[in-house]
Amino acid sequence: MMLDDLAEQLEQRKIEHLYRSRKVLESPQSVEPVIDGKKVLSFCSNDYLGLANHPDVVNRFKQAADQYGVGSGSAHLVSGHTKEHHSLEEELADFIGTERALLFSTGYMANLGVVSALCDRHSEIYEDKLNHASLLDAALLSRAKRFRYPHLDTNNLEKRLSNSESVNKYIVSDGVFSMDGDLAPLNELVALAEKNNATLMIDDAHGMGVLGEKGKGIIEHFAIGNIQAPILVGTLGKAFGTAGAFVAGSEELIETLIQKSRSYIFTTAMPAAVAAATRESLKIIKEESWRREKLKNLIGQFRKGASELGLELIDSLSPIQPIIIGSSEKALALSEKLLEKNILISAIRPPTVPEGTARLRVTFSAAHTEKHVEQLLETLGNI
Ligand code: PMP
Repeated sequence: MMLDDLAEQLEQRKIEHLYRSRKVLESPQSVEPVIDGKKVLSFCSNDYLGLANHPDVVNRFKQAADQYGVGSGSAHLVSGHTKEHHSLEEELADFIGTERALLFSTGYMANLGVVSALCDRHSEIYEDKLNHASLLDAALLSRAKRFRYPHLDTNNLEKRLSNSESVNKYIVSDGVFSMDGDLAPLNELVALAEKNNATLMIDDAHGMGVLGEKGKGIIEHFAIGNIQAPILVGTLGKAFGTAGAFVAGSEELIETLIQKSRSYIFTTAMPAAVAAATRESLKIIKEESWRREKLKNLIGQFRKGASELGLELIDSLSPIQPIIIGSSEKALALSEKLLEKNILISAIRPPTVPEGTARLRVTFSAAHTEKHVEQLLETLGNI
């Protein structure tokens, strides 16, 4: 791609209704952020439990900033790994019930780091077609042989696995699919991994903190043990309301990542204050199950109202409840119309989602109220 061509290519994106632009928030992340001086009702953040601006989380962040400053100053392996990071790792491992957990600066980096540390050109990676971009990029980076099976299609996966002669096979899947909100068929994936001697890696970015009675995510939802889900990734920028990610697994897995994972080794550690704030989030996630209950009720309320309106929803029980529109032009126009009515929902378009499935990705937070959901349904009905 030549720099001279960029202007033309950007113009083309606009013509195809695929041009992306950013909304500038003038307030904390919340269900009612301020944009262009106007308070809007937002249904598009991943702050599922309403912790991004929780006073206890914010206070813990401030105290830790007083104690540790802002920047961590270096990578974890040099001098950036503080007591806050270390304690958070221990608490996350304890929460999930694994031997160890390891922090990464983002979920994207965690996925790149795990896959490229474990796989090489002799490995085979089997991925759901709708896996998150970071998992697809991770497989590319690792130089492994890649196979993408149709979304949730475990029969297709089984066929492909049974034809494989590789001794180094990985099944890699989102837990909750980020643009659809539906769940990976975890029981089937576990069984296929066992039967075919493959290793299962689950990225539970959107399930962690939300699914399961205790908030342990998809593994708790399906009552799957840690041995059966030996590589589990959780992100901290969503239900935890902070930033970063972790990998939970065995002592050997985590030590291998510390030795070999390039996106762990060659990057600055997350600020200690973020780790400290996340410790507070974890405490709330463990203690306040009402947040998950409330979320479930709001989702039920929305699904019932949306089906009465005849809207096309995906079979999802997670806080991600996309309304499939089809064309990018229409999805964008609806998103703009909603904003005119003070409701913020972004239009998700290709290539983030497959061609012809542009959508309004509606997400819910425990910070929403029933009234908010009523307002959303009423506005959707009107437009
Ligand atoms: N995995 C999934 C499934 C995601 O949806 C995301 C973020 N949208 C990530 C990984 C990346 O996480 P992070 O934002 O922390 O980089």
